[in-house]
Amino acid sequence: MFDNLSDRLGTVFDRLRGRGALSEQDVRDAMREVRIALLEADVALPVARRFIDAVTEKAIGQDVLRSVTPGQQVVKIVHDELVEMLGGESGAQAEPLNLAARPPVVVMMVGLQGSGKTTTTAKLAKWIREKHGKKALMASLDVARPAAQEQLAVLGTQVDVATLPIVQGQQPVDIARRALESARLQNVDVLLLDTAGRLHVDQALMDEMKAVAGVSTPTEVLLVVDSLTGQDAVNVAQSFSGEVPLTGVVLTRMDGDARGGAALSMRHVTGKPIKFAGTGEKLDALEAFHPGRVADRILG
Ligand code: GDP
Repeated sequence: MFDNLSDRLGTVFDRLRGRGALSEQDVRDAMREVRIALLEADVALPVARRFIDAVTEKAIGQDVLRSVTPGQQVVKIVHDELVEMLGGESGAQAEPLNLAARPPVVVMMVGLQGSGKTTTTAKLAKWIREKHGKKALMASLDVARPAAQEQLAVLGTQVDVATLPIVQGQQPVDIARRALESARLQNVDVLLLDTAGRLHVDQALMDEMKAVAGVSTPTEVLLVVDSLTGQDAVNVAQSFSGEVPLTGVVLTRMDGDARGGAALSMRHVTGKPIKFAGTGEKLDALEAFHPGRVADRILG
């Protein structure tokens, strides 16, 4: 995860740490290299700029350069700013799922086709069953992609979570209503709605998401995006958050993401927390997104 970025930053910081004394110019030179590394990692330009400004100001404005270990102090400042960039006000800890509402709590999963939405729905259902000890039910509202509903049913068997029986020809809003009814009857704690994807963000998709949210009043609306798509993932998040009340983001394919631009830009550009990371195809490859730990990983 983030290997390229990690390597680049490692080289810059090893050099800083290796020196006994640091001048203001040394810090500015190092930050120029960090800026390039961030941009090559596909971090949004305003986010990279704000990061560099914050680190530079703290590093040269305080007593850091006169300290005994200036290099280490600068790296510490970088670490803290990375945590801020990844986690915003919530800091180093993962943002928890909000499951405290009156059951059935509805978790609506939204995103583009191929982002990993259906897989993530099953991963999250497993997570909720195992880590929260709650009874879950999944329903696929994807009537656009052939066999999408069957795919969720197969995954449901694998993660041992029930799926709503398929009624051919039923439309998303009606499936959502039926799912809620069924969840109430079966005393389900958490209902996960896997909504339809599209190849691109379009108005029909947004209207459908709004209609589904209207009948199901979700507590969580999680956007699933592919971290490998970098800035596109952030743009998709912006488009969705203008239309549906997103409560968080799940970044998939973090296992293959050597750059990290989506993870590093998401919070600042969209204001939405990354709640989970998908880290593989297997159904247990889901992690709570801890900004502190991710920053540790990036800085090696
Ligand atoms: P959907 O169209 O958004 O519902 O996407 P799917 O859930 O069908 O996933 C598309 C492909 O991505 C499948 O082959 C998944 O196994 C794979 N996938 C999903 N999440 C991850 C992840 O976190 N890491 C990796 N490596 N593959 C993933």
